[in-house]
Amino acid sequence: MKSAYPELIDSFGRKMTYLRLSVTDRCNLRCFYCMPQADFNWMPHENILRFEEIIRLVRVLARQGVRKIRLTGGEPLVRKDVIRLMEGISLLEGVEELCLTTNGVELPALAENIFALGVRHINISLDTLKRDRFHGITGRDLFENVWAGINRCMELGFSPVKINFVMMKGKNDDEIPDFARLSAEYPIEVRFIEFMPVGKGSNWGEGYFLSSDEAKEIIEEKNGKLEPKRRKKNSGPAELYTLKGGKGGIGFISPLSHSFCSECNRLRITADGRLRLCLFSDREVLLRDMLRGQITDQELAGFLLEAVARKPARYLVQEQNLPSCRRQMSSIGG
Ligand code: SAM
Ligand code: SF4
Repeated sequence: MKSAYPELIDSFGRKMTYLRLSVTDRCNLRCFYCMPQADFNWMPHENILRFEEIIRLVRVLARQGVRKIRLTGGEPLVRKDVIRLMEGISLLEGVEELCLTTNGVELPALAENIFALGVRHINISLDTLKRDRFHGITGRDLFENVWAGINRCMELGFSPVKINFVMMKGKNDDEIPDFARLSAEYPIEVRFIEFMPVGKGSNWGEGYFLSSDEAKEIIEEKNGKLEPKRRKKNSGPAELYTLKGGKGGIGFISPLSHSFCSECNRLRITADGRLRLCLFSDREVLLRDMLRGQITDQELAGFLLEAVARKPARYLVQEQNLPSCRRQMSSIGG
């Protein structure tokens, strides 16, 4: 598609093609590693971007080269009428892929509508297969809903169905082999994610941290050899493997132990309309007031390019090993 709008290329030559769009900071779970348990305020309702503001922003970004949009949250499926929003985004010229990251609680009710929109890529977060432990980690007794949601997605034919598993020593590391086995038995890609120090009150602690390399060792000892899979172009930061004869795959996402900043093609927009150029940096650019003002699309595109030019080369969390940003994950969206 030829566009008069400037492409979003930063000062290190990285082209921005992927947007993670948080559509709400609300959530129907309370994962202890994501949301602070106290001192927590929801974003005021009037600050949340309205559907027409989101659609306009995504339309401009798509004209500037963004091709893949992932809806996230909080929990995206608790936003009222989210299916209507997804439909609007899916119809925008230039949007090639619409994806979703969800905790899965609402999938038994909504998976069919989402599939009908043409969405095929879905990431479902699940950190345990044990009902009591699920309650302990998420604060809600809803394991059965999530499991039913995963099964519904497989039945409908979402592909790939991915499970996001945040690795936490002493909390769920004993289940790493069970999740690896899921990838062998089902057409599921299980993604083992390093626990990240994001957000004040995230409960991150070094004691919980388990690296992808440690997880690989556990899997190779218990489940057998991990066979590397060739990475597709723009397949993101996951390192991919399969177990012999496995129907699905295994991915490792290692933001702490292996940096992937040099290939970063991501932008993030929070539910209250702030552009974040790096997950770990609290430097944000407020777009909401602009969208509610007199700015033209062309001017907005110019402003977005200027903002993108200031994307940091890399983050320093590896060196500092400390909670790196104040905003909690539940209001960034991962
Ligand atoms: N509510 C949806 C969900 O849980 O999938 C979408 C938002 S959630 C913030 C997005 C992803 O971030 C989830 O897979 C979640 O497990 C992950 N996440 C949250 N806090 C994290 C942390 N501190 N370190 C690593 N991953 C985290
Ligand atoms: Fe909610 Fe997702 Fe955060 Fe859990 S990880 S509290 S489901 S936003």
